Amino acid sequence: MSGKSVSDIRDLTPGDISSFLLINNEKPFRARQVFEWLWKKQCASFDEMTDIPKSCRELLKSNFTFHKAIITKTQESKDGTVKTGLTLHDDSFVEGVLIPSGGRYTACVSSQVGCPLGCVFCATGKLGFKRNLSAGEIFDQAACLNKLAFEKTNSPAGLSNIVYMGMGEPLLNYENVKRSVEMITSADGMGMSSQRITISSLGIPKMIRQMADDELKCHFALSLHAAGDDKRNRLVPFNLKHPLEELLTALKYYHKRTGKRFTIEYILFKDINDSISDARELAAFCKNFPVKVNLLEYNEIEGTLVFKSKPERLQAFAGFLESKNMVVNIRKSRGRDIDAACGQLAGKNITLL
Ligand code: SF4
Repeated sequence: MSGKSVSDIRDLTPGDISSFLLINNEKPFRARQVFEWLWKKQCASFDEMTDIPKSCRELLKSNFTFHKAIITKTQESKDGTVKTGLTLHDDSFVEGVLIPSGGRYTACVSSQVGCPLGCVFCATGKLGFKRNLSAGEIFDQAACLNKLAFEKTNSPAGLSNIVYMGMGEPLLNYENVKRSVEMITSADGMGMSSQRITISSLGIPKMIRQMADDELKCHFALSLHAAGDDKRNRLVPFNLKHPLEELLTALKYYHKRTGKRFTIEYILFKDINDSISDARELAAFCKNFPVKVNLLEYNEIEGTLVFKSKPERLQAFAGFLESKNMVVNIRKSRGRDIDAACGQLAGKNITLL
């Protein structure tokens, strides 16, 4: 390969880099050095590759570009949640969130600029869709938030967990998400355990099967929000094309293939999906596989006709599920005052700290 058609060098696999260097008469071991600089040492330019001869760096420079995502804005919530705005090489903007909890930090990363799925309750969905993030850009978010966590804790611990729950639907950008997970978990990248990573999806049936076939090691969380088609269609227009029966079949396949328990995320909306009969429907849906259920408070956003459920409804809903011996957690909203909570990420201008 000549490399001329490739824009970002981090789109290349180790094999691609190796072939390119061999064709250009470079020593075989250079490929490993270059790969290490790109992912493990997380360099931001070819000039930083100090153990690579200048001639080789010039060769790389004249054939590839370097698309780093960089934090250009940060904003901190009263509860310690930090929202970061990352600017991409084409001036696109995405947000990533650092969420503290008992001395540990979880990073919430974006996978797309905007989102094509238009869920009625979601600020990102209102932006429309601009483009997918590359694997390198997703990795950069994790690496930037990891660095921020290092600084906050002043210890080498860094991030405890990463969730793909920011802007965009991860399974609609599957190949780049998969590669970013591989690089975050690889010893050649961030070296993080796959057990600390969760991909959260609205549930794209075809891609759930793909994920199972690929034996992707990280956890999976399904944003369900309603266990009956009428209500889910109202909240999640994607469900009109891919109803629950199709999703259920894909989830059964996922469980059969992987043997793994997964998480059901369920946001409670006032007078839409928060009754005991909704909880009964959810319990019936969950009987098909081992799951734990996270019940989430809704973070109201401007311009929607859906609202947060009352706390007593949330408690009664959780109580019903527990009475059916289900594992249930109530997730309190974090970072609401800076629009960093779940469903609020919309690339609004945020202030520089
Ligand atoms: S909730 Fe997720 S899938 Fe739905 S519009 Fe928002 S980002 Fe997209």
